[in-house]
Amino acid sequence: MPIPELEKSIIKGVIQKDKVVVDGVEIDGTWNAFLMERTQTGYDPTVWDEIANTLEGYTISACWQCGTCTSGCTMREYDPNYGPRKFIDLARKGDKQGLIELQNSIWRCVSCQKCTHRCPKGVLVEEVVHAIHNYLHKHGLVKKDPGTIFDELFLETVMKNGGRISELTLGAASAKAGFVSLGVKDLIMMSGAMLRSGLIKELMKPSKVKNWDRVKKVLEEAMKEEVRPE
Ligand code: SF4
Ligand code: SF4
Repeated sequence: MPIPELEKSIIKGVIQKDKVVVDGVEIDGTWNAFLMERTQTGYDPTVWDEIANTLEGYTISACWQCGTCTSGCTMREYDPNYGPRKFIDLARKGDKQGLIELQNSIWRCVSCQKCTHRCPKGVLVEEVVHAIHNYLHKHGLVKKDPGTIFDELFLETVMKNGGRISELTLGAASAKAGFVSLGVKDLIMMSGAMLRSGLIKELMKPSKVKNWDRVKKVLEEAMKEEVRPE
């Protein structure tokens, strides 16, 4: 296949002669093109191992880079920089810089699982993407993204309120994460609606969900760092 004109400047070290004869067979420029051997530096080989040893990321090694996940990804439609195949490739190479440059995209997974259902190699793609994202956070390589800010506030609310959330606290969490903007007028309207519906009492003194002690233990366990069992 000829190298597209647009890609020639990107692909470095391409050698291509007008004519080469191999065993009496003439091969023209397109068919004798090859890449110069090159050494790439700055990659960290421990990234792949660390991700493959987490509960979420243990299927990362099975990926064969076909791109099926990216081609059907929900988020890809909204963000052209978003691509599970690319995230996996960069993580396995240990290209931290490449992943850092995509930090405004990588957190956006909506967990729709289309990628995982379609993967021909059984990679749990959605989980692997989260494992890569978690790796970046754990090592302090990226700033806290809106999704994580929201998740933390959501969980904090649930833990404080005996397993319950309220419209007001959820609204505040969404606003802090930057998902919505709430003005004074919105807050007054929400408060009025809560007063009328009686929800304000629930906000002041929330009742716990059934079996809260057991639910709390499960949540606390889930919040601990996940490490793949040997
Ligand atoms: S569909 Fe599966 S094998 Fe193909 S690139 Fe995505 S994760 Fe890798
Ligand atoms: S789960 Fe995430 S990565 Fe997979 S298709 Fe949905 S948005 Fe894309």
